[in-house]
Amino acid sequence: MRHEGKTEARLERIRGAVIPRRHNARTIAALTSNPGCGRRAVLDAAGVDKDGLAGRVGYPAGFGQSPFAIVRGNVFEKQVKADGCTELLRLLRDQLGLDLGPASYRDLGASGELAAGAPGEAGLDARHAASVEALTEAARDAAADPSAGGAVFDHPLLRLDVAGQEVSLEPDLVAVQPGGVCHIVEIKSFPVIDGQADGEKVAAAAIQAAVYVLALRRLLGRAEAVAHEVVLVCPKDFSNTPVATKVDVRRQLLILEHQLARLTRIDSLLDALPDDLRLDLAVDGAGAPVLDAAALTTALGQLAARYAPGCLSTCELAFFCRHEATGRTATLGIGVREELGGVETVADALGLAHGTRAPDDDQAEAAAMLRTTARVYAEVLASLPAPSRPGPAPLEGGP
Ligand code: SF4
Repeated sequence: MRHEGKTEARLERIRGAVIPRRHNARTIAALTSNPGCGRRAVLDAAGVDKDGLAGRVGYPAGFGQSPFAIVRGNVFEKQVKADGCTELLRLLRDQLGLDLGPASYRDLGASGELAAGAPGEAGLDARHAASVEALTEAARDAAADPSAGGAVFDHPLLRLDVAGQEVSLEPDLVAVQPGGVCHIVEIKSFPVIDGQADGEKVAAAAIQAAVYVLALRRLLGRAEAVAHEVVLVCPKDFSNTPVATKVDVRRQLLILEHQLARLTRIDSLLDALPDDLRLDLAVDGAGAPVLDAAALTTALGQLAARYAPGCLSTCELAFFCRHEATGRTATLGIGVREELGGVETVADALGLAHGTRAPDDDQAEAAAMLRTTARVYAEVLASLPAPSRPGPAPLEGGP
């Protein structure tokens, strides 16, 4: 990610002397699932290791794949990409009707032709420049001569502007069809069993692939140059046999574009923060943390969060933020938060419902709804025969 010099210096001060974590398609997808959360926006922009931070403040997330799953995923990916993606080209042709003909293969990634290039940001810049040139040229040439074969690009590096930051993205593959239409291809290690895959994993893969589609469309300057159907390649049943599926990501693209347009620019978030804010996870020469848990917790508290239950599946800091939001109506879900606009705590909501608390002007509508709900609930409860009424659960082992 690249920022203006002043912003970059500020983010570096927040992150301290540790290597920054980079945004990727997964973090962008998560960011757009909670676009109002300034805490996540600042931490991601600064490249703070949220997983490490959650552990240091006492709320470890337990996110991520097991080492076994990572190794299995790498082996599967290698198998699909072997011999210039021979297996992938066969799957595209036989299972999806996408015939790329005698397609060329080019590896733009760290294991490919730029492996010996410059390290760090310079290396990424070189890989991005090579990707831009190669993909633009291939899409143009394939459109100009539909009789020529297609092309497959391994490890391309795309970039996308996210709230004023340029984020580097690494799709697995881009396939260019004769005629010039490009397809994002993602190789996933979750299985397709009897034609069905885990819905949550497919949804996560679809929104991440949509991030790549959007980045490639912006690179090529034409939406129609990149298919809205992405290709997922997964292991079939309990074997290592690959199976390819098309997933339509038009809905995800709409959500993504809408949410990205709503994200607050990082500069305005930083302007509202104290100048001495630090979330440095570094350790000193003796292995002691530069900042202890109390200092990190205080610093986190200065970043405005917007906890919602969905955070539990998308953000490493979810347990910390959920604990912090205890007793607040936001913990009951986005629907409740929207219905109870202006009523911040569960205690306030109960007070308004039972008439023991007078509403402010901006709470009048929510208070009327809460009173009606409490009255209807009490009436329904009173009309139930005594044994049906909800009461305290019997104690285990009781009479
Ligand atoms: S868990 Fe916390 S930091 Fe992460 S998105 Fe939710 S509110 Fe924001």
